Amino acid sequence: MESHSAMLQRLRTSFQSGVTVPEKFRRAQLNQLLSLLQENEQRILEALHKDLAKPKFEAVLSEMDIVINEVHFALSNLRSWMQDEHVTKTLATKVDECYVRREPLGVVLIIGPWNYPIHLLLLPLVGAIAAGNCVVIKPSEVSSAVEAVIAELVPKYLSQDCFAVVCGGAEDTQALLKNKFDHILYTGSQSVARCILQAAAPHLTPVTLELGGKCPCFIHHRVDPLAAARRLAWAKYFNVGQSCVAPDYVLCTEETRDALVTALKQVLFEFYGEEPQKCPDMARIISAKHWTRLMGLLGKSKGKVVLGGESDEADKYIAPTVLVDVSEDDALMQEEIFGPLLPFITVSSVDEAIAFMNRQEKPLALYVFSDDSSIVNTVLEKTSSGAFCSNDGIIHMTLPGLPFGGVGASGFGSYHGRWGFETFSHKRAVVLRGWALERINGLRYPPFTDNKLSWLRWTASPKSCSIM
Ligand code: NAD
Repeated sequence: MESHSAMLQRLRTSFQSGVTVPEKFRRAQLNQLLSLLQENEQRILEALHKDLAKPKFEAVLSEMDIVINEVHFALSNLRSWMQDEHVTKTLATKVDECYVRREPLGVVLIIGPWNYPIHLLLLPLVGAIAAGNCVVIKPSEVSSAVEAVIAELVPKYLSQDCFAVVCGGAEDTQALLKNKFDHILYTGSQSVARCILQAAAPHLTPVTLELGGKCPCFIHHRVDPLAAARRLAWAKYFNVGQSCVAPDYVLCTEETRDALVTALKQVLFEFYGEEPQKCPDMARIISAKHWTRLMGLLGKSKGKVVLGGESDEADKYIAPTVLVDVSEDDALMQEEIFGPLLPFITVSSVDEAIAFMNRQEKPLALYVFSDDSSIVNTVLEKTSSGAFCSNDGIIHMTLPGLPFGGVGASGFGSYHGRWGFETFSHKRAVVLRGWALERINGLRYPPFTDNKLSWLRWTASPKSCSIM
């Protein structure tokens, strides 16, 4: 097997040759990525089913189409993204060319997690290819069937001189990280993120961290409980709650909670029938270890289970579960749940809900359900989160025009659409000067005089350019 350093040397030599820079090359690789997804859809869906029992419906939307749409968006916009961006000039630089040039960073590393193992690996790859980089991708070993498919298909479709897949677990990733990269985009847990930052530090490698956290959902009394329950249940139980943007907990008053629990009972029946375990539209927990962690949280919680609660270890199954009377110090509130357990916390007002959310770490997404736009705006203005969405969950991340990323403990940096292209580009400041306007430019030379200084201050201000 090729060593990491030999593989990286191959990629670095390719990058230095300039092969990845032309628009034509970037387009060709993006089109190859499209072919990889389209020609192997069945195999990828089977692997996702093997790892997570992912229903085809969910897999097509959240793993295949989201990446395919991103590739189309990049192909449509690539030329304009690559164009130099001219900037405001001064009188002293009036006749010069002054612009920002987007340049590829070099050899970058993308490390993905297991919960959306195609999407969270290949969607950042679109931005990295569009920006003209060579890329090493590291799928999660936890979703092993997808890992194997990625390791086989990427070298078949993408240039082997410029793109490589590295497989393995924590130790292999640590070994890989001993090498120098020009950027690392990591998606995963906050604890591993600290290891990534430490490994990046000796090389001063810039890092984008796409992390998790507890995404709150405040539900105001002015909502139709049934409509709210449908959207809440869809966002929460998609991929059985193993989504970084899933609503982690609900804040509402007692009356709203009672109406919502009644509505959720009806909705869960509509979605998954009498026996959700037998419903093919319900995915499974990724591994026995993750199942045990979730059941441990459920066991330790002092909340009252009002819906669901059933489980089957051999099947890695946990029913869509709702708990009420959960307090801030409950076990379920100490870490990201990342599974189908939905705690309700009672608050008496929107202000109390805002104070509660602001006592926690800044989340990746924050949701508010209300028909009253002043309530939605109040929460938007008084809180902070990676993303904000009213009257729904998850939907914001389907728009390539919006940056996807966290703030504070939910991460830093972003991607999707142009934001991914920017993340993987260096913004180089360029001034191409001629020899003209020397009377103005000569004002800076000694001998210094007050008269020269006052003229120079004027010619160096952005206002000066508009008068000529
Ligand atoms: P994981 O266990 O698959 O780990 C992610 C990656 O890190 C894997 O490729 C793994 O091999 C690697 N890794 C694990 N330990 C390592 C170590 N010590 N050193 C170096 N690399 C290591 O996934 P996970 O961390 O369980 O993912 C779940 C977390 O990811 C949740 O917190 C979730 O909220 C978050 N997440 C965030 C986003 C987002 O876009 N912000 C998306 C999905 C998941």
